[in-house]
Amino acid sequence: MKDYEITIGLEVHAELKTNTKCFCSCKNEFGGEPNTHCCPICVGMPGALPVINKRAVELTIKAGLCMGCDINDIAVFERKNYFYPDLSKAYQISQLVRPICLHGGVKLDSGKFIRLNRIHLEEDAGKLVHKSETVGTLIDYNRGGVPLIEMVSEPDMASSDEALEFLAKLRENLIYADIAECKMQEGGMRCDVNVSIREKGQKEFGTKVEMKNINSFKAVERAINFEVERQKDILKSGGKVRQETRRWDDVAGESSSMRSKEDSKDYRYFPDPDILAIEIPRENVEKLRKELPLLPAERKEKYLGEYGLSQYDTNLLLSEKVYSDFFEACVKLYNKPKSVVNWIQSQVLTLIKDEDEKEIKISAKNLTEIIEMLEKKEISQQDSRTLFAKCWEENIDAKEYAKKTGMLSTLSEDELEKIMDEVLSENPKACEDFKSTPDKVMPFFIGQVMKKTKGKANSEVVRKYITEKLK
Ligand SMILES: [Zn+2]
Repeated sequence: MKDYEITIGLEVHAELKTNTKCFCSCKNEFGGEPNTHCCPICVGMPGALPVINKRAVELTIKAGLCMGCDINDIAVFERKNYFYPDLSKAYQISQLVRPICLHGGVKLDSGKFIRLNRIHLEEDAGKLVHKSETVGTLIDYNRGGVPLIEMVSEPDMASSDEALEFLAKLRENLIYADIAECKMQEGGMRCDVNVSIREKGQKEFGTKVEMKNINSFKAVERAINFEVERQKDILKSGGKVRQETRRWDDVAGESSSMRSKEDSKDYRYFPDPDILAIEIPRENVEKLRKELPLLPAERKEKYLGEYGLSQYDTNLLLSEKVYSDFFEACVKLYNKPKSVVNWIQSQVLTLIKDEDEKEIKISAKNLTEIIEMLEKKEISQQDSRTLFAKCWEENIDAKEYAKKTGMLSTLSEDELEKIMDEVLSENPKACEDFKSTPDKVMPFFIGQVMKKTKGKANSEVVRKYITEKLK
C-alpha cells in the first residue's frame, strides 16, 4: 500500500474592527436592514472615488506585527477583476504585488513553524441571500467594502490538526490585539483551504484543490479530511487529481466541483488608479508596535514561567481574552497569581461558564481585596463567598461593605490570636469540656473573645482557630 504525504495551505480572511468601511464612511457593522449601510462608493457606482481608511491600514500593520511579518515601506492597491453579483463594480480593491505585510508566521505548540507568505488588505463583497424559488436570490451590500485582511500561509501544514492549530493561533492574536473579532458564525473570519497529496518521498507537490469560504473550525477539519480521502481514492485507482475549486457543503459533509481553478493572471490585476500608493513610515510602524498588548504566546510563557501556574490554569486563562485581561489586572493589584487564578477558576468562571457574553461582573479591585482579607484572616471563608456574590450583583466597595456589616475584623491577625490564646489559658475547665461537648462550649469561647475584642473578631475565624488549637 502506498503512503501519502498531505500538504495544506490556508488563506484566512478576517474582517477588521473599524468603525467605517475600507474606502468610504459607511458603517462597518454586522447585520442591519439590508442595503442600509451603503453609498455610491461601496456599491461601486461609476465615478465614485474611494478614500483609504487609515485605521484599516493601521490594523493590518498591527496584524503583521503580531505574526512577525515585515512591513512594506510602500503598499499598493490593485483591482482584482471578476464578475459576481455580490461585487457590483466587477472588481475588488485588493493587493497583489506590494501588500502591506510580507513573510512572518506562527509557531505551533510542537515547535513547528508555519510560514506566512503575506497579509494584505482588501474589501469584502456583499452577501447573496437565497430565498424561496418564487422570490429568488436577493443581494445585501451592507458587507460590501468592509475591510478584510487576507493572511496567506505557505503550504507548510501536514494534517488537519496542524491547520486547526494554525487557524486558532491567528485568531487568538487578532482577538487579543483588538484587530478583529473573528466571529466565525457571523462570517467575520473565513478560510480557503488548499489541499494536495503526494506519494511519500516524491519531490514535487501534488495537484492542489482549493475549497472556498469555510467558516467554522469543525468544517475546516471535515473539509480537509474529506478532500484527502477523495484524492487518495483517485490516485489509488490510477487517476489524476484535477486542479479546481470545490465547494464544501458542510451539511452533506462533502465537496463538489465549482470551477476549474483560475490563476492570478486571470484576474487582470492592475494598480487602482483611484488610490495612491501608501507610504508607511518606520516610526508609525514602531508606534503601532508599542500599542500591542502582550500576545497569547507571550502570556503563556509568563504564566508558566514567572507565575509558576500549571498548564491547565494557563490554558484556562488564555481561553478567553477577558479572563486573561482580568487576571492580569488582578495580579497587578495583588501579586499572588496562584491565589488569583484559584478564585477565577472556582468562583468567577462558575458564574459565567455557560453565558454567551463572558462578562466579569466584579472589579479586579474588589476581587483582590476579598482575597487579601481572606488570606490575612480578616474575614472568614464563608463571608468571603458572601461578599463575592454581593459584589457580583452590585458594584459596591468590598472592603467598605465588609466593615459596615461586621465581616471585617479590624484586629490584626496577631492581636486576635493573642486574645484567643488568653481566653483559652484563662478557661482550662472549658478546654477540658470541649473534648466531650465541643458544640456546647464553642459559643462560650466565641462570646469571651467577642467580649475582649469588643465584637471586632470574626466568629468564623475564631471558631476555626479554637477548634484547631484544641485538637
Ligand atoms: Zn459606502
